[in-house]
Amino acid sequence: MQDLDTAIKAMERLKTSAQNLGLTLTDKQLAMFQVFYQELVAWNEQFNLTAITEYEQVQIRHFADSLSCLLALDERPPDRERRPLRCIDIGSGAGFPGLPIKIYCPQMQIVLLEATGKKVTFLEHIVARLSLKEVVPIKGRAEEVAHDPGHRERYDLVLARAVAGLSTLAEYALPLCRMGGLVIAQKGASAQEETQAAEYAVSILGGRVKRLISVELLGLAEARTLVVIEKVACTPNQYPRRPGIPAKRPLKAQVATDDDDPETSGS
Ligand code: SAM
Repeated sequence: MQDLDTAIKAMERLKTSAQNLGLTLTDKQLAMFQVFYQELVAWNEQFNLTAITEYEQVQIRHFADSLSCLLALDERPPDRERRPLRCIDIGSGAGFPGLPIKIYCPQMQIVLLEATGKKVTFLEHIVARLSLKEVVPIKGRAEEVAHDPGHRERYDLVLARAVAGLSTLAEYALPLCRMGGLVIAQKGASAQEETQAAEYAVSILGGRVKRLISVELLGLAEARTLVVIEKVACTPNQYPRRPGIPAKRPLKAQVATDDDDPETSGS
């Protein structure tokens, strides 16, 4: 009985949190989220998918937080597009933010890109369990997948949460984004700082920071921010660099020093 009470309370919490974001979840969608919760917790015992397992916390920190990406799409409601939006979630882990967005926007086509095999196994399981169509989990690294012509500059939307610092993430994400498409990076308190530091990387990769959106999630005190980057120019072919390099050496402007000046360096 207590379990049922907990489940009902958690579902109410998700429904209200979504409403607070301007999103209305149907009973069918709420039921899908609860199946997702049960499977996530069950598989977590073996696969170590997430540190957050408490019922209500998962509704807020995973489900509602993922849905908040939709705030960046207010100018282009996904289900009213002439064709379904094509989206890729980089470093999806156990499916965040891609799967909650797919549950809310069933028309969307989503690729869940994840480097770790056991997480991909979970993603394949949960996609089948929820009978979701047009969701493809792929095992791979963004640095490699972004050079595949089937993926390069193909996506209307590129999403990522908790994958890398923004300069590194820009190098994973912008090569996958089509001209005119959007990259949405979910960030915490460091969003402003990371955006400033990533200015150079974003610009040489063909992006332009469009806006930062502050997100308030019901019951969560922490700052959440969406960094929305628009693709305004083609990404040069050499990006992303080899696997591991974008994280090891994030792109940044070379600062000219006196040593670089032939007139003062004596060379
Ligand atoms: N996005 C999920 C979330 O917010 O719950 C997972 C976050 S987890 C901290 C980061 C995930 O990104 C890991 O599962 C890792 O395997 C994946 N990852 C990191 N670098 C990657 C890359 N270059 N390409 C693909 N996946 C990557």
